[in-house]
Amino acid sequence: MNPRMHRWPLVLLAAACLHASPAPAQAPSYDIVIRNGRVIDPESGLDAVRSVGIRGGRIAAVSPAVLQGKRIIDGLVVAPGFIDLHVHGQDDENYRVYAMDGVTTALELEVGVGDVPAFYAAHEGTSLINYGASAGHIRARMAVMHDGGAALGTLLPLDSAGHNAASDAQIAEMRRQVEAGLAAGALGVGMGLEYTPAASRYEVLELFRSAAKYHAAVFVHTRSTGLAEPGSSVESYLEVIGASAVTGAPVHIVHVNSTSLAATPLTLALIQEAREHGLDVTAEAYPYTAGMTELSSPLLDRFANGPDSMFARLMLASTGERLTRATFAANRKPGAVVILFLNTPEMEALAVTSPLTAIASDGRIVNGKGHPRTAGTSARILGHYVRETGQLRLVDAIRKLALMPAQRLERRAPMFRTKGRIKVGADADITVFDPATVADRSTYQQPGLPSVGFRYVLVNGTPVVLEGVLRDGVHPGRAARAPLGAVPPR
Ligand SMILES: [Zn+2]
Repeated sequence: MNPRMHRWPLVLLAAACLHASPAPAQAPSYDIVIRNGRVIDPESGLDAVRSVGIRGGRIAAVSPAVLQGKRIIDGLVVAPGFIDLHVHGQDDENYRVYAMDGVTTALELEVGVGDVPAFYAAHEGTSLINYGASAGHIRARMAVMHDGGAALGTLLPLDSAGHNAASDAQIAEMRRQVEAGLAAGALGVGMGLEYTPAASRYEVLELFRSAAKYHAAVFVHTRSTGLAEPGSSVESYLEVIGASAVTGAPVHIVHVNSTSLAATPLTLALIQEAREHGLDVTAEAYPYTAGMTELSSPLLDRFANGPDSMFARLMLASTGERLTRATFAANRKPGAVVILFLNTPEMEALAVTSPLTAIASDGRIVNGKGHPRTAGTSARILGHYVRETGQLRLVDAIRKLALMPAQRLERRAPMFRTKGRIKVGADADITVFDPATVADRSTYQQPGLPSVGFRYVLVNGTPVVLEGVLRDGVHPGRAARAPLGAVPPR
């Protein structure tokens, strides 16, 4: 600083500043302003025309006034960025289609991961959107039981982790691995009991105890899809709600649509009743009648032993061909992925529109092959369920896509208190879309086709989608993680 300045009368200094900068009140004060959008925040109930000022990766203003910024974006509907609790595709191919579908945070919570520090290290500084994972019981069981899929790189068990009962020592080792993941900041404990049918109810209880110790929820694919009889879905839900009640670990039941099928009215009633009695039970659904899984996994065992008519409900993802008993057996190899047409549009709608469910995609594509839910889940909710059929109000759709997932995680990972909301101080994870044109384009034949209608998607204040076009070379995604360390205080 020039020491002479100190000698200037203050009034002159002020006049000089005014002269140098003719309109200081009009100077850009935000990095980005989203101007005159219909801002919807399901938590506060805000649904009004506002301008949103973003500075330093956070929302710094939500105002009816016209704000000035270095970059101005014209708002359409301005919503908190969508948080997907259930995605298996955790690479750039998948992140790109998620971002084009309005998703700013993609979490692998059902299967989870085996090596939590390695997962976070691999994504640091290289991710388009925010990422996170649970510590997976399936993955620990595959390691401890020496499952053949571990060496072949399958997501799900191939043999011993699905079919062999564990000793007390093996269960203790699974708990040790899962708790190491929790101490490393895993967001919860993942379970997929239909993939590990040999896991006893006692083993399940033990893993819930690990989750409870860390105030973490268990994200669980329940034991039976109830395809044979609806009652088996109810029993499967009772198993995990019971383990939650005994241990105190919250439970989140993944894709209630696909594990309930015709029993969806019964399982939703069960969840509602448990919540009314004080249990922390939540759920999610995806807006498609078909499911998808690995053809070699134990989930498909019942098809191998089932009637001929069942095979036509299975479609090979790589070729689109419907299966027969012979082609089912011939293709049942590690790496093959199958689409399962098992649900009805009525049960799908019941699961998706229930006030109990968040929306989560269960997405994963590999080289463009997989399930259309990967690329199209949010757009199908906003296009089909909100605009075309009016089965959901816009604010409720946004609640299911953004706020409910944040609320599920914020006790374990307080960083989620500033996600899923449009408010001052929140992370600038923001999705701007045109409610009149937003639509999914992905199909069972072309599952990787990105959605349309999402005009701007911001991750930590950085646009990853600009005027409907994905940007290359930006990696603003950050770790979504629980605090590190040993057992947190009560
Ligand atoms: Zn699942």
